[in-house]
Amino acid sequence: MEGCRNSKDYMMDVAGRVFVLGVGIDNVNLGEALKRIQEYVENGTAGLVVTANPEIVMLARKSPDFKAYLDNALMVTADGIGILIGARLLGRPIKQRVTGIDLTTALFEQAAAKKYKFYFVGAKPGVAEAAAENIRKAYPGIEIIGIQHGYFNDDSKIIDDIKIKKPDILLAALGMGKQEKWIEERVKPAGVPVSIGVGGSFDVFSGEAKRAPKWIQDAGIEWLYRLIRQPSRFWRMLQLPKFLGAIILSRLFSGK
Ligand code: UDP
Repeated sequence: MEGCRNSKDYMMDVAGRVFVLGVGIDNVNLGEALKRIQEYVENGTAGLVVTANPEIVMLARKSPDFKAYLDNALMVTADGIGILIGARLLGRPIKQRVTGIDLTTALFEQAAAKKYKFYFVGAKPGVAEAAAENIRKAYPGIEIIGIQHGYFNDDSKIIDDIKIKKPDILLAALGMGKQEKWIEERVKPAGVPVSIGVGGSFDVFSGEAKRAPKWIQDAGIEWLYRLIRQPSRFWRMLQLPKFLGAIILSRLFSGK
């Protein structure tokens, strides 16, 4: 039932999707998300996987092009505690947070057994290489068959390389918006089965950026940890109260 997301401003369930401010979020736990990725790889389905946070939902409200990328995505998981709170406020809780780091880490764990071939694109020069080195040490047998930094003007050589190497899973770490556009317009036509927008994940895997300690993640305040470490994110984080305000308004409006 792909492609049946609707644009209503309130939430409804369609084929396991929960609509949060018009953006369909797949109500999957980590195990289900992994199983779906395995099916997409086996079937050779070319498409995008998004791990959505409130900033992504707010961008989709502003940009119809970006919204179309989400509507066409193979899967959109709930990254960010804000999505979970929003869905709960709307009365249809989502079962689990599936973040980009959790999803990719679980895929790396399965990589050798399932023979997944990965291609990494994104982050500053050297960062994706450092991430790949750490990942290869942690998950022996993993195949990372291509690595490119994310500061390119002309991507034609990268696309040619992707077509030749034929990865199963491409991770694009170009930042929200840019990575989804690049995947939809450039990587999907190159036939890569699964491409995941992973934001700042290479910075985390390379050791350049530290993820919050587990207790902070579990308390749902990773956003606060990131804000303290990177105050420049303040303006972006204002999207969270705007998102919650929009949820409350939409709930009042829909009378639910
Ligand atoms: N980046 C990139 N190319 C660009 C702009 C950004 O490769 O043209 C990388 C940047 O170096 C960083 C990641 O994209 O590694 C964005 O990280 P951020 O945590 O801001 O991700 P977001 O929260 O936007 O998903």
